[in-house]
Amino acid sequence: MSLDHLGSWTREEGDARVTALLHERLGVRPDAVRSAPGRVNVIGEHVDYTGGLCLPTALPHRTFVALRRRDDDVVRLVSAQTDEQWTAHLDDVAPGAVEGWGVYVAGVAWALREAGHTVGGFDAAVDSCVPFGAGLSSSAALEAATAVALVDAFDLDLGAGPGVDALDDAARAVLADACVRAENEIAGANTGGLDQASSLRCVEGAAILLDCRDGAVRPVPFDPLPVGLDLLVIDTRAPHSHVDGEYSARRAAVERAAEVLGVPDLRAVPLDGLDEALVRLDDPVIRRRTRHCVTEIERVRQSVAVLDAGDVAALGPLMTASHVSLRDDFEVTVPELDTVVDAALAAGALGARMTGGGFGGSAIVLLRADERAKVAQAIADAFELRGFAAPAFLAAPPSSPAG
Ligand code: ADP
Ligand code: MG
Repeated sequence: MSLDHLGSWTREEGDARVTALLHERLGVRPDAVRSAPGRVNVIGEHVDYTGGLCLPTALPHRTFVALRRRDDDVVRLVSAQTDEQWTAHLDDVAPGAVEGWGVYVAGVAWALREAGHTVGGFDAAVDSCVPFGAGLSSSAALEAATAVALVDAFDLDLGAGPGVDALDDAARAVLADACVRAENEIAGANTGGLDQASSLRCVEGAAILLDCRDGAVRPVPFDPLPVGLDLLVIDTRAPHSHVDGEYSARRAAVERAAEVLGVPDLRAVPLDGLDEALVRLDDPVIRRRTRHCVTEIERVRQSVAVLDAGDVAALGPLMTASHVSLRDDFEVTVPELDTVVDAALAAGALGARMTGGGFGGSAIVLLRADERAKVAQAIADAFELRGFAAPAFLAAPPSSPAG
């Protein structure tokens, strides 16, 4: 059986696609053509909403936006991924007032206006090679691409000077906040800030250590290919179900744990204080959730230490331990995710874990570059054996941020 590889587009290819789409469907030429990547989180899962640490990289797969300013407040949107044209007045965009896929785009314009920037109506076309709903953050890629296109087209100054070229990390952090507001308040999706920070603030050829308490970002050396390793992403294509409810339940459990322990977040519980903390939590479910968060934050610290020391291979066991914790203590994996990990490890991978929110979505595998085909085949075979839909494979060299 041949393996399904999802390739990425070059910048020229993506730009040409959205520019043509804007002209074909809305009859205008763009003022700005910009793009932003999907992401994989290397480690540090389900800790962004409890003051934790995450270690994401940007995918080479990007969402492209071509955008033309209008003289009124109308927003007209088309996407190559849907036939549904989305139209609204920007003045009418508010929490609870709009729905449909355009909320991710119009929501960013709304949030930038809320932050005091002058944004008017626009026509925009979207095209993307980031798979939807695969836990690779197509929603944040769409928001981030929109954000930089709006900065370009409306010559916005986010504090470092007007335009996209002036965007420094602090200005990108402001844009990420606008994207988070768009997703939480306009799209109505209850997410932390990991996805938006990744798409806007990642660094090519590195991972970023994101401190979810204060939003600080530090690049951490992570480039598997030059040391003969590779990071493979597997979109399991497992059907998502009850994701929103399960996500809210996890968040509530983590918040409850912090409340009972009298701490601002679970980052405040040190690893050597974990046993003592667990004794004070009488609900066994909340105990398991707490153990995941505290140990996961520690695994991120250890990951950063090994990467700073140049030992990419040492990340493998930490990734696998993260998966086991997400499977057994946080209970957010599904059989497809567990199958990727088991099959990859049996075929000789250095480490493997689910990435993103779980309940379906994607997994990542750290492997020797020359064993890539063998490991991918073993995963595909395991899926076939268990009667799962065929997974898709993506190459994931750490790529460049929105711009
Ligand atoms: P994920 O972010 O993991 O891919 P989400 O459910 O958060 O999954 O976001 C997916 C949603 O984002 C889609 O259902 C769609 O509404 C919107 N979206 C993302 N990319 C595009 C696109 N290229 N065109 C239209 N809508 C998009
Ligand atoms: Mg998303």
